[in-house]
Amino acid sequence: MTHDKLSQATIAAHAAGAQEPATGGVVPGISVATTYLRDEEYRLFRADNIYGRDQNDTVRQAEAVLRALEGAEATLLFPSGMAAVAALFRQVPGGGRVIVQSGIYWGVTAWAREFCARRGITLTEVDAADGATLEAACGQAADLVWIEVPSNPWLKSVDIARAAQAAHGAGAMLGVDATAASPVILRPLALGADVVMHSATKVMNGHSDVLAGVLSTNAPESALWRDVAKDRHDAGAIIGPFEAWLLMRGLRTLPLRIERMCRSALSLAQYLDTHPGIETVFYPGLPGHDGHGVAAGQMRGGFGYLMSALVRGGHAEAARVVSNLRLFGRATSLGGVESLIEHRHVIEPHTGIPENLLRISIGIEDEADLRADLEQALAR
Ligand code: PLP
Repeated sequence: MTHDKLSQATIAAHAAGAQEPATGGVVPGISVATTYLRDEEYRLFRADNIYGRDQNDTVRQAEAVLRALEGAEATLLFPSGMAAVAALFRQVPGGGRVIVQSGIYWGVTAWAREFCARRGITLTEVDAADGATLEAACGQAADLVWIEVPSNPWLKSVDIARAAQAAHGAGAMLGVDATAASPVILRPLALGADVVMHSATKVMNGHSDVLAGVLSTNAPESALWRDVAKDRHDAGAIIGPFEAWLLMRGLRTLPLRIERMCRSALSLAQYLDTHPGIETVFYPGLPGHDGHGVAAGQMRGGFGYLMSALVRGGHAEAARVVSNLRLFGRATSLGGVESLIEHRHVIEPHTGIPENLLRISIGIEDEADLRADLEQALAR
């Protein structure tokens, strides 16, 4: 059966058929060679294996799993999410124009500002979750529109189909960072995006032990995609085979993890939303959240594993709650099997993040245990 006929759970569990034909092993081995032999006639044993920079079967296998899960036609792995973002932004010509959603992952915002300044690229930052604002920004020609759905840490939802129409009207490609969703619950390419990106460091790998980034498209023959692939080959932003293998192992349980994480996240968001110690909860699954309607229209089977909450009582109270927690790890990052919490203002005081905002990534622990931990931490 071809992979496009199988469900994501089956594709993931079987690692898209990546097995070890030489040994009969049900899991693939790791191909570590950096270079490949030629025979006496100087012919390659395999025409697609010359040198290991971007020719590695383990990386290809991991890409095949990601491609099938995304429902994409082509997928490229990178050694981090930022390396994937950079490979795409590097396709914008000097003097071009980029529209970037405001209030997204600070690492992308900060890097894009510097990159565009260096290249003489006009950068327009807009609240893309407001469709009319994005459409107005697309009134002038652009090369790239970059959005994050849901956004980190505000969990805003951009209407991807509407954004694609606006971007294409401006002559731009639409890139979507869907890290906080995963292809299990959001498929931006099917909604009109040109390229979807994930920091696979997060839920795709899911075990907080691999850095990886991924780009996928449905237009593998486009000049854009050929240039991205050439950039990866020539500039050498290559993931190692061990990391690709670990990622593939993590992917085998992605649909299962997402199911549990989304269920717990929704229930805990509802709990926090009614807690007197919490001012506001940002989670796309809550009917009162801005963008709930958009999220409900374009996500399937869950609203993600990430949320933010404003603690009543300001900085000191937020710090008290964080320090009281016993099960939530106090660490940056998201998407792991273990729940993490971050007091973002402490690490990014200059970015306008409220002093009482806590960003929470829900893992696969027992939901009642997580709820009890939140309850005791919030108790006065
Ligand atoms: N995009 C989002 C939404 C993120 O949260 C992150 C990292 O936190 C990145 C991109 C960057 O990914 P990486 O850390 O794998 O480079």
